[in-house]
Amino acid sequence: MSNIAIIEDESSTSPPTRSTLADSDINGILYNSNDDIKPIVSFGLIADIQYADNEDRYNFTKTQLRRYRNSIKLVDEACKYWLNKKYPISFILQLGDIIDGISFTNKASVNDLNTVLQVFKTNFQSLPIYHIWGNHELYNFSRRELLNGSLCSFDTKINSPGHYGIIEVCPNLRIIALDTYEFSALGVEKDSEVYIQAMELLCKHNQNEDSNDPTGLRGHQRRFVQFNGGISPKQFNWLKEQLTDAKNQNIKVIITGHIPIHPSACDALDLLWNYKEVLDLLWTFEGTVLAYIAGHDHDGGYFRDRKNIHHLTLHAIVECEPNTNSFATVHVYKNSILIVGVGRIGTYQIDCQL
Ligand SMILES: [Zn+2]
Repeated sequence: MSNIAIIEDESSTSPPTRSTLADSDINGILYNSNDDIKPIVSFGLIADIQYADNEDRYNFTKTQLRRYRNSIKLVDEACKYWLNKKYPISFILQLGDIIDGISFTNKASVNDLNTVLQVFKTNFQSLPIYHIWGNHELYNFSRRELLNGSLCSFDTKINSPGHYGIIEVCPNLRIIALDTYEFSALGVEKDSEVYIQAMELLCKHNQNEDSNDPTGLRGHQRRFVQFNGGISPKQFNWLKEQLTDAKNQNIKVIITGHIPIHPSACDALDLLWNYKEVLDLLWTFEGTVLAYIAGHDHDGGYFRDRKNIHHLTLHAIVECEPNTNSFATVHVYKNSILIVGVGRIGTYQIDCQL
């Protein structure tokens, strides 16, 4: 594997602008006006469930309580919401961190994973669920185990050990699902080339004893922590090919991955290591790429960038306060895509011609 290029050019990111549709009152009116129009297709979004059969505890920075057992109730609530909607969803996109790293400590990885999957299965016997891998999947399982298990959602014959692929949403809309940990120190043997290269990159930028500790790092440099990762050169080239193919056929694309790629849609601590290269690539496909949807930053975020790409980072299920939730439904129409959030997630409209 060749070395990954990390370019520091932070001046090219746009200043934050607020979506004109971030206001819930405006969204409420818009959503109601669309409710009677049958979407071409609808699908569900959910992120950072991080279930564990474990007592609640605070996160690493002691700022947010992780309500592990509550998260399973919220998944069930999300499923019931989708089941009761006028227009059924065609699939669910689970954006990673389905169980928490504590499950591994408790030697309960398989049990805890099965508990979450069973909730989906009880509600939807045969609905496709596409799983994106986050850092917590890789705390619990090796990449090899994941590729052979129930969280493998794509045909990885060509891309293995990477886990990325395509979801055809409807004739003119495609999801490209990325593996934002293909280049990382997680889920791989410590003597593997990828581990050695990932640790070399981390050590170059982060001299702390614990490479998950961002102390002393400033600005976007804070992303150089071990719980993040990057896109490999092989995956980068694949993404470029996919985007070229979509553009040539006039197919619109939504990109998804566990780690966000725009500094204005997340805390810099949760950014993809080589976010800038990926962003620059997406910007060369203006008009083709509509959105990038991620999880990982539990506080969520939204930003519409200079090339009209909507960056949506979903709030985490595991850190929901009592009596709230965080999931979304994407409705695809001929002239727009409406992302309708529930609980902590807002509602966003993407104008497009499909
Ligand atoms: Zn994560």
